[in-house]
Amino acid sequence: MKQYSQFTMISYIIGPTLIVMSHLGSLIIIFTGLSWGAALWAVLLYVIRMLATTGIYHRLLTHKSYQAPTSVLCVGSIVAASAGQMGPSWWKAHHMAHHQSSDQEKDPHSPYLPFKGIKGFWWSQAGWLFSPQFFPSKLPTDVESNLVLKIIDRLHFIPTVALGAISYYIGGTEYLGAFFLSTTVLFHGVATVNSLSHIFGEQPFITNDHSRNYWLVAFLTLGEGWHNLHHAFQSSARHGITVREGRVAYLPDPTFWFIRMLEFLKLASKVKVPSETELLTRAKNRNGQNLVFQAEAKTSV
Ligand SMILES: [Zn+2]
Ligand SMILES: [Zn+2]
Repeated sequence: MKQYSQFTMISYIIGPTLIVMSHLGSLIIIFTGLSWGAALWAVLLYVIRMLATTGIYHRLLTHKSYQAPTSVLCVGSIVAASAGQMGPSWWKAHHMAHHQSSDQEKDPHSPYLPFKGIKGFWWSQAGWLFSPQFFPSKLPTDVESNLVLKIIDRLHFIPTVALGAISYYIGGTEYLGAFFLSTTVLFHGVATVNSLSHIFGEQPFITNDHSRNYWLVAFLTLGEGWHNLHHAFQSSARHGITVREGRVAYLPDPTFWFIRMLEFLKLASKVKVPSETELLTRAKNRNGQNLVFQAEAKTSV
């Protein structure tokens, strides 16, 4: 039994409907072509809305990996909602469920359950959104108790529609097509964290799931593809970290640079990053053994 109203359920269904429409709307550019201006508009919308999804929805709202004024959280949530990423309550509810039971039965979008292979990939990429799993079983109480965030959650589709209208106002049908294209690519970019980052890449840290650091997903999602680090250190604001030959190495993580920029502007504080000792404690060698455990064993010989 869901804990929320029928109105909420209807408002949620508008989300995947808009994403399907966005796929179809992307076809507009076949007829209009894509000028440099419209392509730039698409890229700009992609980068800004991806940063809102990764830097605000994921690292701030869900994992509280840094602190920021409520205004940053609310404005960032409106921008993330304009990407067709649904509202803050829906987003956090599903992501918490993912972390609580990664690649296990209650994970809403594992590429290993309930399907495997190509079917499992499709399920984690998009299929789960068209199943009963789409409706979160429980909405996060901290988000629900903030009236502004709750309103953004239930009216999540308005920023998306408004941005489409702004695009049309700026450059007509071609810019509307660019908006649809940007939204569609962004949707699939974010979804690759759920799919590809649990299938391909390295596992430098010990976790009890299939999360991996995958450079392609990190490129598409401005740093979120360093997903094994994220599962090992969920409250770290920096995801771009690995361990090579017993040493900590830092990887490109534009979302972390964005958080550092917010910090420079005094819009973020208490940015959490694990120490090198903590990182090495969770790191494993090529045989899957714990590095620190190995070092201790060596010194005791
Ligand atoms: Zn994951
Ligand atoms: Zn997460």
